Amino acid sequence: MPSSLALLQADLVSIVGEANVISSGDTLDTLSKDYYWYSPSLRAQLDEKRADLVVRPATTAQLRAVIAACFTANVAITPRGAGTGNYGQCMPLHGGVVIDLSRYDRIHSVEGGVVRADSGARLGAIETVARAAGWELRCYPSTWMKATLGGFFGGGAGGIGGVRWGGIAAIDTVVSITILTIEAEPRTIRYEGHEAMIALRTFGTTGIMTEIEMRLAPKLDYDQLAFSSTDWAQLLDWTDAATRNGAWRKRVASQFQWPIPSYFKPIKKHLRDNEHVSFLIIDRAQTAEVIAAAEALGIACVYNRPLADPPKPPFLSDFTYNHTTLWAMKSEPAYTYVQAGFGADFRNQISRLTTEFPGEVLMHLEWGAIDPKRVVGPDSSPDAIGVGAIPLILYKNEARFIEIIAFARSIGISVSNTHNVHLPDSTPEITAARLALKHQVDPRGLQNPGKMKAFTINPFIGAAG
Ligand SMILES: Cc1cc2nc3c(=O)[nH]c(=O)nc-3n(C[C@H](O)[C@H](O)[C@H](O)COP(=O)(O)OP(=O)(O)OC[C@H]3O[C@@H](n4cnc5c(N)ncnc54)[C@H](O)[C@@H]3O)c2cc1C
Repeated sequence: MPSSLALLQADLVSIVGEANVISSGDTLDTLSKDYYWYSPSLRAQLDEKRADLVVRPATTAQLRAVIAACFTANVAITPRGAGTGNYGQCMPLHGGVVIDLSRYDRIHSVEGGVVRADSGARLGAIETVARAAGWELRCYPSTWMKATLGGFFGGGAGGIGGVRWGGIAAIDTVVSITILTIEAEPRTIRYEGHEAMIALRTFGTTGIMTEIEMRLAPKLDYDQLAFSSTDWAQLLDWTDAATRNGAWRKRVASQFQWPIPSYFKPIKKHLRDNEHVSFLIIDRAQTAEVIAAAEALGIACVYNRPLADPPKPPFLSDFTYNHTTLWAMKSEPAYTYVQAGFGADFRNQISRLTTEFPGEVLMHLEWGAIDPKRVVGPDSSPDAIGVGAIPLILYKNEARFIEIIAFARSIGISVSNTHNVHLPDSTPEITAARLALKHQVDPRGLQNPGKMKAFTINPFIGAAG
C-alpha cells in the first residue's frame, strides 16, 4: 500500500476505530461489490474493481471527519448502503475509499406520517417502526430487508407500494434530504421537497446523504395472493382490471409468464405447472371479494398468506421486481433483464415482443402508479396506472441483446438499458441541474468518479474523464 494510503488508514482508524477500517481480505472484496454480476457486460467491466479501504462510520461527526480525511488525501470516495444495486452503482471505479453506511442507521422519529432517519437505516427496520406507529412505507424495493434508505434514494427506482404511491421520485414522498459536501470542511446542505428531487438517483455522485425525511402512508393489513391460469391473455386482462380498480387497495400487482413461476422454488409447490401467475398484495378487508371476482372468471387463487405485522416472512415480494431475475438466474445463469415501459397498447406490444423472441424473452410485468393522486378513492382513474416490465432475456451475446432492445423500441416500448455503470441519460434540464449540483458539492470530483458522464473532471484519469 502506498504511504499516503497508509497515512489515511491511520487517520481513519483514529476516527472510527480499528474494527471499522478494512484494508484486505474477503470483507474488502465483498464491500467493494454489488449485484453488478446480473449483467454480462458489467461483469466483464467490473470484476476487478476494488476499494483500497472500506470505512464504517456510525455518526454524522465520524462521517464528516472521514470525508475530510479522504479529501485531504485526495482519494476517490464511494458511498455504499447495503450494496444491493444492480449496476455497480456503489462500486469504486478508481479504488480509494468505500464509505459503508450500514452502521449509520438511526431511525430518529416517526411523527405525523413522516419518518426521519439516517441514510444507512434499513427499509425493513423503518417499516417495523412505522407500522408500530400506524404507518407504512409508501414504496420500497424487494430488497427492503437489507437495502438502506440512502441506497434506495441514491440508486433505486420503485417497487412494492409503487402501484399506489409511485416510485422514489413521486411527488411529496421525499420531504427532505440532507447531504454533506466533499470538501476539506464538509458543509451540510438540506434540500426540501421538489429541490431534493435533483439529488435523487444520482448513483452516489452528489454529496453523501446524511438525514432523510420521507412521507409514509397510513398502514393497512395485507394478504398476499397468487392467481393462476393457462391463458396468458385472460390473466393479463384480469390483473390489469384488478390493478385499475380504484376501489381495491393494492401494494403489488405483478404477472409472470410460464416458465418463470417454475423458478420460484420456495413457493413452487403452490403453483401449477404450465400456468402463468399473477400476484396481488391487497388490503385484507378486500381479499374475499377479490378472490371471488377471479374465481367467477375461472381464475384460481393458488396462494393466500397474510403479510405479517411486524413484517416477517413469507414475503411474496421476494419473487417480484429484480428478485424475479435472481430466481431465474439460479436455475439458468444465462438470464439477464432490462427495464421496460409499455403504452396503452401494452397487450399488443407484449405479444409482439414475446412472439418475435420465443423462449428468449420471458415476460415479467409490474404495474405502477403514473399519477398516485388519482389511483384510489372517488377520483381514481384507470389511466393513472401504467404497465412496466422487467422481462427476462436469455443472453446470447451483446449483438443479439442490442437487437432485442432495438426491436422493442421499434414497436414503441420504452427500454432502459441498465447494463451500464453511468448515470442514465436524462432530459437536458435534469442533466444540467445535476451537473450544477455536482460542481457545488464535489468540486474536486472525488465522489464516485466516472459515474456521471456529463461531469468531466476526473482526477484519477486526467481532466478528460
Ligand atoms: C434481488 C434484487 C431485487 C431488487 N429489487 C429492486 C426493486 O424492487 N426496486 C428498486 O428500485 N431496486 C431494486 N433493486 C436494486 C437495489 O436493491 C435497490 O436500488 C436498493 O434500494 C439499493 O439500496 P442499497 O442500500 O443496497 O444501495 P447501494 O447498492 O449500496 O447503493 C446504491 C447507490 O446509492 C449510493 N448511496 C448509498 N448510500 C448513499 C448515501 N448515504 N449518500 C449518497 N449516496 C448513497 C451508492 O453510491 C450507489 O450509487 C434490486 C436489486 C436486487 C439484487
